[in-house]
Amino acid sequence: MNFLKKYKKEFEEYDKLDHDFIDDEKIWAQLNKWENPSKQDVRRVLKKAEQCVRLEPEETAILIQNRDEGTIQEMYELAHQLKEGVYGDRIVFFAPLYISDECANNCLYCGFRSSNKAIQRKTLTMDEIEQEVRIMIGEGQKRTVLVYGESPKTEVDFMCETIKKVYSVKTEHGEIRRANINCAPLTVDELKKLKDVGIGTFQVFQETYHHDTYRRVHPQGTIKGHYRWRLYCMDRAQQAGVDDNGLGVLFGLYDWRFEVMGLLYHTIHLEETFNGVGPHTISFPRITPATGTPFSEHPEYAVSDADFKKLVAVLRLSVPYTGMICTAREPSRVRKEVIPFGVSQIDAGTRIGVGAYVKSESANALPEHEQFSIGDDRSLDGVVKEICDMGFIPSFCTACYRAGRTGEQFMKVAKSRFVHNYCIPNAIFTLKEYLLDYASDETRQKGEKILRSHMEQFKGEPVYSKLLENLSRIENGERDLRL
Ligand code: SAM
Ligand code: SF4
Repeated sequence: MNFLKKYKKEFEEYDKLDHDFIDDEKIWAQLNKWENPSKQDVRRVLKKAEQCVRLEPEETAILIQNRDEGTIQEMYELAHQLKEGVYGDRIVFFAPLYISDECANNCLYCGFRSSNKAIQRKTLTMDEIEQEVRIMIGEGQKRTVLVYGESPKTEVDFMCETIKKVYSVKTEHGEIRRANINCAPLTVDELKKLKDVGIGTFQVFQETYHHDTYRRVHPQGTIKGHYRWRLYCMDRAQQAGVDDNGLGVLFGLYDWRFEVMGLLYHTIHLEETFNGVGPHTISFPRITPATGTPFSEHPEYAVSDADFKKLVAVLRLSVPYTGMICTAREPSRVRKEVIPFGVSQIDAGTRIGVGAYVKSESANALPEHEQFSIGDDRSLDGVVKEICDMGFIPSFCTACYRAGRTGEQFMKVAKSRFVHNYCIPNAIFTLKEYLLDYASDETRQKGEKILRSHMEQFKGEPVYSKLLENLSRIENGERDLRL
């Protein structure tokens, strides 16, 4: 079958809908209505947000449009409090693993687009994947997200093989315990196959929710050119039983204020359709320069650092139960600044070139195999050290997904605000493993200090003795202990 005709029937079904759940005019009307909200309006929304509930679109519009410095500071403070309340002060670490830079699509902003002659095309073999994973594990990684272009070489059966391969690699101290995926939208049957091999989160970014912009940057005649095929892919994931799903926007394609509203409408749609289960994570990458890709050098709607900080806080306040991912596309300075406002996951030690863990010790070293450039090229050890310095606890935990706490189960736990009862103990165990097996002396010292201060929180609670017991078992060589 012609690859581009692959989903023709499904596309036709979506074409029959007379509308979808993103109403561009309504979103602009809501933003315009609240063009200059009063302090009272902002505080009214913050009062509601304190209850840790998902906001309504007009409420989010008020926060987005707020230009008053005093109440913007109040937004930052509350965003920080909500993040601590729901997720505790732990930051979960992962690193991407790029499997292929072959792609039939032609997205204007992306280095992998088919018309880009500056990229050398490569899909890793199973042996090459094993070598990449060995290096990642050797640096201390426990979680990865596998990334693929959309091509006949990387269809779902191949993806399943790659996931099985990643899970099969074991070394003396470790293994990858959770493999997430970032790939093109799939059918329900394809998604069921991914579920069967144990994927973690299924991530597909809408890139832009604005219909006209979507059409402009994703040429028609490509699979990616179909807006609704992408928009409804998380519905299909839920139908397939893949219930940890990751949304995202590529900031810089269109007005960031509209895109934040789009993410909220997508969340509401999923919650209303799937018994309260919204996205597991939201990602908010900004466009960075890509080899041979002029569009990526000067995005028309580039988001300033100040607006970026604000949008992170608005998202945290609007969807308090969703994990938020800030990737290494951002420079370390920006990551440091936004992490306190609601980020729960970051990547570190990241190499995004296909085959780059084997071929280089740093990021941005294989431009001919890289989708874009990254801003934070520090080692995993360096970032773990900084997170400790900031007073957060680095975590390599993968417990929820392995204990079946996904989708509705996860939301129940998250919404009852008991996540810290799992998250912090599991962060303590996995950080201890990292410090013993991989950390530099300096990071080990700082990490031990953070461990001690977090153990203090549990003194007097029944779980304290269990924590002490597990820490001593880890010191004696046991691994992968979790609650
Ligand atoms: N090919 C799949 C797809 O498009 O759905 C997988 C996604 S791609 C390999 C991962 C994500 O990188 C894209 O969804 C997009 O948001 C982001 N991306 C693409 N070009 C980028 C750029 N120049 N800067 C930053 N992020 C970019
Ligand atoms: Fe291909 Fe994804 Fe890049 Fe588009 S964003 S060209 S689909 S890899």
